[in-house]
Amino acid sequence: SLSYHENWQRVWSNPTPKKHYDVVIIGGGGHGLATAYYLAKEHGITNIAVIEKGYLGGGNTARNTTIVRSNYLWDEASHLYEHSLKLWEGLAQELNYNLMFSQRGVLNLGHTLQDMRDIERRVNANRLNGIDGEVLTTAQVQEMVPILDCSKGARYPVMGASWQARAGTARHDAVAWGFARAADALGVDLLQQTEVTGIRRKDGAVEGVETNRGFISASKVACVAAGNSSVIAKMVGMELPLESHPLQAMVSEPLKPILDTVVMSNHVHGYVSQSDKGDLVIGAGIDGYTGYGQRGSFNVVEHTIAAIIEMFPIFSRVRLNRAWGGIVDTCPDACPIISKTHIKGLYFNCGWGTGGFKATPGAGHVFAHTIAHDEPHPLAKPFSIDRFTSGELIDEHGAAGVAH
Ligand code: FAD
Repeated sequence: SLSYHENWQRVWSNPTPKKHYDVVIIGGGGHGLATAYYLAKEHGITNIAVIEKGYLGGGNTARNTTIVRSNYLWDEASHLYEHSLKLWEGLAQELNYNLMFSQRGVLNLGHTLQDMRDIERRVNANRLNGIDGEVLTTAQVQEMVPILDCSKGARYPVMGASWQARAGTARHDAVAWGFARAADALGVDLLQQTEVTGIRRKDGAVEGVETNRGFISASKVACVAAGNSSVIAKMVGMELPLESHPLQAMVSEPLKPILDTVVMSNHVHGYVSQSDKGDLVIGAGIDGYTGYGQRGSFNVVEHTIAAIIEMFPIFSRVRLNRAWGGIVDTCPDACPIISKTHIKGLYFNCGWGTGGFKATPGAGHVFAHTIAHDEPHPLAKPFSIDRFTSGELIDEHGAAGVAH
């Protein structure tokens, strides 16, 4: 039945690997593809390969709940995420690709007095950094989301919320495909079904990567492998301060439009939005154990659904369609690593844990600069791997959407 479509043009080419590239990027998720695009577009480096063991955008990029926001607490993190949010705002035009970026706003609910104090502190910090944010009362939240249980009798009554109006959601596949098409057009080789199995070094510098399609020489190797970053680091004997955990999400059967914003609750621990197709998109918490299987435990699903029903009793008879897992690379301070390493020409962008989708364009942009100049972009500097020895950690656990 697909024969009717057989003359569709390829959106990107399927090249044979060259013997040498100036930059090899390991990982064809949104971050890897964005890095390739900005390297080519802004730094004139086009002899690049993105090496992906599966298919483009099939890792966490395909598995996340697509929440985009920039209302983090500390200056370093909020500047980085705001840089990304600003790029999102013009990205569909820039890539000429419909990313379905929808600035429908994000509510972070407060359920205790301490939650509300933290929310006020964070919103004040955001505003001082020029990031939009408001503290809403219970009545304002109820007006915005009539189906949310804001009654005083709720087990964890809603006492208010932070509101970022410019936040929202985007279509996860589209951002990967948009960057892939644009990078391909600039001459980047996208090598799918190609797995990096080793990294060759000589005299303290990278020489290239071993793959299931043979050795590929490279002047620089940039690792953007999310949950598999520690596996890549091990190839050069490095130990990253990361733990890889399963994180799950699920979608319901499609419903008529009923929820036009994103509602997140750290306290009850569940978050939900409604996709343009009508599914409720529900995010869970991480599994307590580490692992690399892209699935999670049933008790986490049960806990998440209990939290969602607690907040939205109206959803109690909605059927779930699908649940899945991704492997997230969590850092001790809930912030990413965007960094050079002690090995010349080897770079890492990882540790985004449960919240890196929102950073896709911003991370790619600052990582490309870091690789091109062999010096951190000013926004990436605080996220160097050195912070784990200097002690200059940026603790964003309070603003991370998913506790870990
Ligand atoms: P990925 O998309 O995972 O790309 C890495 C790629 O590297 C993969 O495609 C993988 O196949 C490839 N790879 C690994 N090893 C090798 C190798 N040896 N050789 C070649 N290729 C290799 N973030 C948000 O901002 N908002 C959210 O709402 C949100 N919700 C989430 C919900 C879930 C269930 C999950 C799992 C994550 C969520 N995240 C969210 C986090 C977000 O998905 C990630 O931080 C982000 O997508 C990471 O992008 P990436 O391109 O670095 O990783």
